[in-house]
Amino acid sequence: MIVVGGGPAGIVTALARAGIDVVLLESGHQKFDLDAQQLSDAADWNHRRHAEMSMAVRRQVGGTSVIWGGRCVPYDPIDFERRDAVPDASWPIAYDELVPYFQRSCDWLLCGRSVWDVAGLPHLPQSIVPGLPNSEVRSSTFERWSLPTNFGREYRRALEATPGLRLVTGLTCTQVVIASVDRRVDHLATRGLDGREVAVRGRRYVLAAGGLESTRLLLASADADGVPIGNHSDHLGRWYMGHAEGVVANVRFNTPPEQTIFDYERDIDGIYVRRRFSFSEEAQRRLGLPNIVAWLANPSLSNPAHSSGALSFAYLALASPLGPLFAPEAQRKSLTGGSVPGSPYGPSKPGPVRAHARNLMHDSRATARFIAEFGTGRFIARRRVPGFFLYSPTNTYPLQYHGEHRPSWHSRVTLARNRDALGVPRLRIDIRFGAADIDGVVRAHRHVDEYLRLHGRGALEYFSPDVADAVETHIGGGFHQIGTTRISRRPEDGVLDPDLAVHTFDDLFVVSSSAFPSSGQANSTFMVVVFALRLADRLRRELAR
Ligand SMILES: Cc1cc2nc3c(=O)[nH]c(=O)nc-3n(C[C@H](O)[C@H](O)[C@H](O)COP(=O)(O)OP(=O)(O)OC[C@H]3O[C@@H](n4cnc5c(N)ncnc54)[C@H](O)[C@@H]3O)c2cc1C
Repeated sequence: MIVVGGGPAGIVTALARAGIDVVLLESGHQKFDLDAQQLSDAADWNHRRHAEMSMAVRRQVGGTSVIWGGRCVPYDPIDFERRDAVPDASWPIAYDELVPYFQRSCDWLLCGRSVWDVAGLPHLPQSIVPGLPNSEVRSSTFERWSLPTNFGREYRRALEATPGLRLVTGLTCTQVVIASVDRRVDHLATRGLDGREVAVRGRRYVLAAGGLESTRLLLASADADGVPIGNHSDHLGRWYMGHAEGVVANVRFNTPPEQTIFDYERDIDGIYVRRRFSFSEEAQRRLGLPNIVAWLANPSLSNPAHSSGALSFAYLALASPLGPLFAPEAQRKSLTGGSVPGSPYGPSKPGPVRAHARNLMHDSRATARFIAEFGTGRFIARRRVPGFFLYSPTNTYPLQYHGEHRPSWHSRVTLARNRDALGVPRLRIDIRFGAADIDGVVRAHRHVDEYLRLHGRGALEYFSPDVADAVETHIGGGFHQIGTTRISRRPEDGVLDPDLAVHTFDDLFVVSSSAFPSSGQANSTFMVVVFALRLADRLRRELAR
């Protein structure tokens, strides 16, 4: 079996397929290499709506997990239902079929037990502030945090030592070549930046090159009729989704401030978890809402009006020339007020350095404590504290949302004329967010506000009266690459069958978030690993016969 791509999807597929010989083909190397990285650059993209590829993917062993945040969240049962709020999202498999893989996915991601609600963890408070019931709006659900796990580093020994597994680096798959007589793969054409050209053959081929790169590879590979492989019904490259993300309001609670759960909590195994507001499935159906969640966040770091020495210190450290040492570029830029599509606050003019310095001086004790505690938790502990959150004595927190992006036929990637250094056409990215995406975010806020008021626990305070405009300003994607090789029962409706095989092929598979017909509220990687495990099981059964 040949697996293309050494990110989480490829590494899990390759390591979980015990008993079958596998070649894991990775375009990058163990360490970052700029020439390899630039193979992923797009030719053209809508800059306001999509991150540039250098920030959105990594070409090296470990893939984008080298720079990811580590947030682990499964999809919800409602994502698999037909919903009026999200037409054009149809899953050909049932949620219950995937649940048995959740604990295994947690194990690979090192994020603890497959428990996602405090109802399963009685040692934690049941809601985010005292007395707020978990009914239509819930604050009992949480996400889990991985180490964050760099798959290349974590599984390096296993990749080197597992019998029957061969990791080949520095070799890029440039085309899937089809046998002329039947719908089978003949070989993968691969090339190295050093001039090597190798035809790679196996019994099964798994593309695990990331959401956009797997799609690009199919678009660049014609079948016997000259049609890009998988584009039998014009779905390949379409339905491109990310998430709707941002901050347009503060939430002000009127409960005792010291009882608000504003920070990470730890579960019984010491794993970091974080509360979110979410809507019950019944409320989503009744209100016609997309799936959306929200967390309590920090005020914008770059604006010294927050008066916090800790936040000013974090801002100055990230904005300094040493900043890239502390956070991946996307996160660093977004936290320092740079222009990153989908970032919580959008671009902002940073406050003067002297105002930040004043915060450091006035708040020096708290700043010193922050540096010692966060520095230890972040840079010395094996399970790194994923971030930091500031207590608000006024019980007021920015509310950061992460919501479903509705699939749209017109949101798509295509090939440009422009080619990379190995001759593969680069991508042209045209991601689209529509009025319904914006409206979903606005209405979700309205319902959270009403819910807090109804139960006398607080209210939202919007940053601007035109909420829709504020949502529209920030909305963008690129970090979760969903939908462009969607699964479907019938070839007419998608690119892959429910088992991830390209429709009408039985030896070519894609394992990636690009297979998902909807984006849900969840960051993609947890479910990518679920699907990789499911595929590895299937291939093991099939090939071991
Ligand atoms: C800044 C940032 C933060 C993120 N935070 C989170 C988070 O908190 N939670 C979450 O769930 N997700 C997060 N993500 C997304 C997460 O990183 C991806 O979902 C995950 O890495 C996808 O895994 P993958 O294996 O499918 O693809 P990738 O990790 O992108 O791996 C693909 C691999 O394929 C290789 N490759 C590409 N093309 C070829 C080719 N033609 N031939 C051979 N090899 C090839 C690449 O070099 C790479 O190693 C984040 C992403 C970014 C950029």
